[in-house]
Amino acid sequence: MRRRVFLRSVAAGGAALTTAALAACGQAAQTPTQQATTAPAQQATTAPAQQATTAPVATAPQAQAPAQTTEMPALEWDMATSWPVALDTIFGGAQTVADRVAALTDGKFKITPRAAGELAPALQVLDVVQQNAVPIGHTASYYYVGKSPATAFGTTVPFGLNAQQQNAWLYDGGGLEKLQAVYAKLFNVIQFPAGNTGVQMGGWFRKEINTVADLQGLKIRIPGLGGQVLTKLGATVQVIPGGEIFQALQTGAVDAAEWVGPYDDEKLGLNKAAKFYYYPGWWEPGPSLEVQINLDRWNELPKAYQEAIKTAAAEANITMLARYDARNREALKRLVDSGTQLRPYSREILEAAEKAAFELYDEFAAKDADFKAIYEEWKVFRQSIYEWNKVNEAGYTNYAYSK
Ligand code: CA
Repeated sequence: MRRRVFLRSVAAGGAALTTAALAACGQAAQTPTQQATTAPAQQATTAPAQQATTAPVATAPQAQAPAQTTEMPALEWDMATSWPVALDTIFGGAQTVADRVAALTDGKFKITPRAAGELAPALQVLDVVQQNAVPIGHTASYYYVGKSPATAFGTTVPFGLNAQQQNAWLYDGGGLEKLQAVYAKLFNVIQFPAGNTGVQMGGWFRKEINTVADLQGLKIRIPGLGGQVLTKLGATVQVIPGGEIFQALQTGAVDAAEWVGPYDDEKLGLNKAAKFYYYPGWWEPGPSLEVQINLDRWNELPKAYQEAIKTAAAEANITMLARYDARNREALKRLVDSGTQLRPYSREILEAAEKAAFELYDEFAAKDADFKAIYEEWKVFRQSIYEWNKVNEAGYTNYAYSK
């Protein structure tokens, strides 16, 4: 029985952070390991769970193998991730999936998460899973909006849902089902939410910004749809790998940069490169990370192993958010105590950004039927859960935080 401590990977140290790029990692991948498609799977494929349920072995030629072996084959999968090991919160989500799957299968199904760059570049995890070069990955689906803009909904979109609302939409609002149909059709992949950062921060700025005019020509490091929104507002967007953000910000190569939130940003030392820390991160109000599995490999798995992955992903979805919330709380205090200046985005900037965001979605919807189908239902869900959360969540927090 291995009861691996989740944080074991952290010992690898903060320095490793510089080597990996959460976003826009440009490094060439090492060739995706073909061993990842290990032999045991083939054996496991043909006969597994369905037949194994009823008084099994009678007809099978290899009948001397106990039924248990058929039901619980030994499997070893490598998992590609988009994260450096040193980002213990987000890489920890992948590790949680691996640890729980091993525990639920009595150690028979071993999944080994690999840091970004080992099996695939940070932003090509979906690609290697789609190609079946690697059976499973842990990543953020919005890295793949170039393949299909609908993938943005699997993570988050500007002015979208917070973590709690995202879970409501995915698990109970039909969101996951619809996204799974799109991923199956486009990528031959099945995915499950497996982590969330909560509302991110709005980035580090070398000088204060108050108006949309202040954004004109501002050089800012921000990937994804948030970057596209800021481009519409006149900013000059750059996508720089995580390990290079500090230097770019410190030297003035960029005027501003966003990463995740206090706990992760502190690790990059961004507070030493810029003074003003804006909030909220309106482009990432509740980003889900996903575990993605090649659909052929998924279909080969015994039912019990599929259930183990689903259960493990759901656990990672909860524990990652818990870790971020608990650790950001302490990190924010450290940052403020050491001189970081917190600044809220002005209402002028927020309103202009929200308007630009929905113009962008309308443009996507006009061009992409998958995006349109999800967007139209998502928009209705968003509006109605905002109405409910204005009453219950905001009703409570507006009072609780007012003192
Ligand atoms: Ca971010």
